[in-house]
Amino acid sequence: MHEPVDADALGETSSVIPVAAVLVDARTRVRGGLDLRGATIARIGTPAPDSASRRLAIAGLRNAHVHLDLSLVRGVPRATRGFAAWVLDLLRCRGPFDPSFFQRGAEAGCREALATGTVSVGDIDSSGAAAAVVASSGLKGVSFREILGSGKDEATLLQLERWLDAFPSFAPAGLVRPGISPHAPYSTSPGLYRGAARLSRARGLTLTTHVAETLAEREFLEHGGGEFGELLARLGAPNPRLGSPPAVRPIADLEELGVLGPQSLLAHVNYPEPDDPERLARTRAAVAFCPRSHAFFGHPAHGRHPIARLLAAGVRVAIGTDSRASNGSLNLFDELAYLRASRPDLSPATLWTAVTETGAAILDGGSGRLAEGEPADVVVVEFPFDVPATAEACVDALTLGQASVLATYVDGRLAHASPAAGDEALPLTEVG
Ligand SMILES: [Zn+2]
Repeated sequence: MHEPVDADALGETSSVIPVAAVLVDARTRVRGGLDLRGATIARIGTPAPDSASRRLAIAGLRNAHVHLDLSLVRGVPRATRGFAAWVLDLLRCRGPFDPSFFQRGAEAGCREALATGTVSVGDIDSSGAAAAVVASSGLKGVSFREILGSGKDEATLLQLERWLDAFPSFAPAGLVRPGISPHAPYSTSPGLYRGAARLSRARGLTLTTHVAETLAEREFLEHGGGEFGELLARLGAPNPRLGSPPAVRPIADLEELGVLGPQSLLAHVNYPEPDDPERLARTRAAVAFCPRSHAFFGHPAHGRHPIARLLAAGVRVAIGTDSRASNGSLNLFDELAYLRASRPDLSPATLWTAVTETGAAILDGGSGRLAEGEPADVVVVEFPFDVPATAEACVDALTLGQASVLATYVDGRLAHASPAAGDEALPLTEVG
């Protein structure tokens, strides 16, 4: 309904987004609308009609850790009996492996992400069915092919290389890049981690892995027991650490395996060792914190997530939703509102920067800010009141979940429009 309508002499589409103000970043608000030219922001602060007084343009949100292909999994009980028991519940609720289930899940997940103002994702593709869906959804970001297991590392890595080689054929739009995801220390052999790290460096690809997610993970690395030992036994899977020296510090172990670096993104990091924040800052590895998933698994009972400590050490921390199997939605505004309620020690500006600028740097190379010459990854939101007068007040209202998403643009293309936007709400007209 809001397809671009005009092309200029260069063949680029120009459009005007009429909003009362543009939130450049957590500290800067500019009065007026926004002009797009092709995939970039041409101008901010253009005249806007009075009717747009409740509308604000913001940078698109970045979801640094999500499993879009699990979006149709329903009914997984709350993880009160431990993480490993939840994994078994998840497998039961998911049912027998069926690629179309993952495909449909990824489709639903992409729609939800775009409808809630997300422009970029770090998506874990566990089935091989999600990447093509995500790559053609209009979202940008990284599709991480998940690998795990032990005993056939060479074959797994060869398969992964084939997938990487084939990626351009199922992601022709070029908005989504391939990435690599060795699953977790309790499921993935040290040899696979080493091979994945080598590949990510050789090909310049981002690597992500789940690490320091539970206390049981440490126990498993040390002696192969605990709930993960039982889980592997229940699944009939071999211990991937067999024959490797025990490790008690999961993140230090990853450094030894060559995994940590500017290209790596560690999911969760709920239980870092005392020297891990400095280790991550030194190696420039980033972290994806999943707030409501952290709560779902009962981790707050062991203390707050160490995000403040990580940020203070200079670690880049972005925000993720994790999957629908451990979260009620894939809406990052819900994560922000949850954090406002549960983490008064984190300023709204800190949260906003994490979900825009930090996520963008990790996932899509954008700045995560709205400025002239930047990629037009823009979300139009509407408040039930006039747009607040300062950047600080806008960020306060946004992180409290007071705005609703009207439209989501990715690289200047309208990827989602809410029916509430109305036909005249987002006119796209030729500029100059
Ligand atoms: Zn995950």
